[in-house]
Amino acid sequence: MEFQTGTKCVQAGYTPKSGEPRVLPIIQSTTFKYDTSEAMGRLFDLEEAGYFYTRLSNPTSDCVAAKLCALEGGTAAMLLSSGQAANFFAVFNLASAGDHIVSSASIYGGTYNLFAVTMKRMGISFTFVSPGCTEAELAAAIRPETKAIFGETIANPALTVLDIEMFARVAHEHGVPLIVDNTFATPVNCRPIEWGADIVTHSTTKYLDGHATSVGGAVIDGGRFDWMAHADKFPGLTTPDESYHGIVYAEKFGREGAFINKCVAQLMRDFGSTPSPFNAFLLNLGIETLHVRMPKHCANAQRVAEFLRDHEKVAWVRYCGLPGDENYELGRKYLPNGSCGVLSFGVKGGRAAAERFMKHLKLACVVTHVADARTCILHPASSTHRQMTDEELEACGVSPDLMRLSVGIEDVEDILRDLAAALESV
Ligand code: PLP
Repeated sequence: MEFQTGTKCVQAGYTPKSGEPRVLPIIQSTTFKYDTSEAMGRLFDLEEAGYFYTRLSNPTSDCVAAKLCALEGGTAAMLLSSGQAANFFAVFNLASAGDHIVSSASIYGGTYNLFAVTMKRMGISFTFVSPGCTEAELAAAIRPETKAIFGETIANPALTVLDIEMFARVAHEHGVPLIVDNTFATPVNCRPIEWGADIVTHSTTKYLDGHATSVGGAVIDGGRFDWMAHADKFPGLTTPDESYHGIVYAEKFGREGAFINKCVAQLMRDFGSTPSPFNAFLLNLGIETLHVRMPKHCANAQRVAEFLRDHEKVAWVRYCGLPGDENYELGRKYLPNGSCGVLSFGVKGGRAAAERFMKHLKLACVVTHVADARTCILHPASSTHRQMTDEELEACGVSPDLMRLSVGIEDVEDILRDLAAALESV
């Protein structure tokens, strides 16, 4: 029986047999015991599935990965130690020195840095396109050596909404997969695979955990991309892997399993970006209430966005749930039940007024984090971007008055009273 999203949040990934613990057990063990070295050898050769060392895989983490796989409608998934690791693995599993990736320019700053600086040093080049580009502009960015297109469902912090269907169409016309970071929307509000995406990534640190306890990441494969049909482009999946006695991932694991099996067998083995089983356990607890929390985040954020839009001291608000927002139509298409709890706004009076406003908040905490049950706020110009002048801030798309507000699941009247009182000071 195929369950609905809320039931999957609670139950998917772990089904105890008679007499086993009802709650997902934490298998806090680095190693696993076998009766013979031949039995263990078969695991090493990928002849049989099983556990031998937690750097590669662990039963607790795998159950949570299976839950996320079910939620996103994928065929295989893995957990990682961070969202950064997830995006690095997803891209590096396909591209190596000399290859090229097309990415939306509207992505998380850490991911932008990973691509434009660190992976560039590895010999992989990136072309960044506007998320609002036309189909022709996106197609024009693709080169013969392009291996994937990348974007975020809802971009952090620009809050643009990706036209997933269009990006997937262009990717597939050029024989490459679309990778979508679905962190802000979560599978409760959008499932990119249903719109044509091939690979989905997450910083599970955000809404999936939801309580700001554990940094983590996930990669989920939709299992539809035909690697063999584009064998020349993806030799890592379609030619023998000498480090595993010449297995060909696409042949051995098929479309459903090739991407994740290669990602675990090669990249997790070599980079070891493994989540701890305890963090996986905490993540699972978070996901159990995701379908209850997300509608509350969205309803609260919608009320807050409307309140700010109508306030005389507020210069502007960005939230795709507001009619007239430049992402409103895309939001209605891809996020009909709500987007997320994150919005951005500016107060009249620029950087100085924003700093005064921040000082007077009581309920909303100033933290470098988003997507938490607790309302939190960040003023980049006085924190993460404080070394920049107003001109430099404008040039990277962060206005000096911009505040990123992550609306939590408290009683919305209290959040509104806190904002109203702080606005008095402006
Ligand atoms: N992707 C998105 C959309 C993010 O917002 C973040 C972090 O804020 C990341 C990836 C990186 O995730 P992590 O901080 O878990 O490494």
